[in-house]
Amino acid sequence: MRRPVVAGNWKMHGSRSANGALLRELEQRLNPEWPVDVVVFPPFVYLADAARTLDGGQIRLGAQDVCAEATGAFTGQVSASMLKDVGCRYVIVGHSERRRLYHEDDVLVARKFAAVLHAGLTPVLCVGETLEERENHHTESVVARQLEAVTAMNGAASFASGIVAYEPVWAIGTGRTASPQQAQAVHAYLRSRIAAQDANIAGHLRILYGGSVKGGNAAEIFSMPDVDGGLVGGASLSADEFLKICEAAAQRETVSGTVRP
Ligand code: PEP
Repeated sequence: MRRPVVAGNWKMHGSRSANGALLRELEQRLNPEWPVDVVVFPPFVYLADAARTLDGGQIRLGAQDVCAEATGAFTGQVSASMLKDVGCRYVIVGHSERRRLYHEDDVLVARKFAAVLHAGLTPVLCVGETLEERENHHTESVVARQLEAVTAMNGAASFASGIVAYEPVWAIGTGRTASPQQAQAVHAYLRSRIAAQDANIAGHLRILYGGSVKGGNAAEIFSMPDVDGGLVGGASLSADEFLKICEAAAQRETVSGTVRP
């Protein structure tokens, strides 16, 4: 059974007081019975504060990025072991904003994935095509290239401890989501690429959808058999919206009753 994940990427938003209020409200209102892993990804400078606020609670902590190097003269960078030290368990690698705005290529993303695993944390690998790539029917080749840069460097077995997030670039922050069928098709394709290397790991791999997920559309997207939860940007900054998404992910398991590998 693949337990769903709802991951809130706060991007460059928040403040000490706003974060504390949001996290306390989430912890209070999150139903401990919901079978869902909930993770928040505040900006680096707020991670230690957030770890203190969340200490002993149900919500896990993650970072939005990491340096591929372990230690040394890399001004401005933060290593995976430092993230672990302040209480992170998850790290996003290869978010489309990192790829597009900071020119991170597939090899660097694969190295970051390796660094996160090496520190004993869970990498969340983001893959996804631009609108132009989709319109030119390159979706599958783009996501396969992004995925297989990681397996080429780290092996398919590295996904035993990793998560994939399919985030079509045209759906991020635009209010335009992929249809459930579009998401399902890409998720099934990604799973099949891993299955070609290791069917057991593919069966257990959690593949999240990201791109304008809201309280109102989450249930429909999460009802797809290969969608194992969501990576949520804008809506993760609102307790009401984020909790609705968590509830939709939790209900997906109980309502569908599907025995997932
Ligand atoms: C994201 O930042 O990864 C994301 C999916 O953002 P949004 O939910 O706002 O589209």
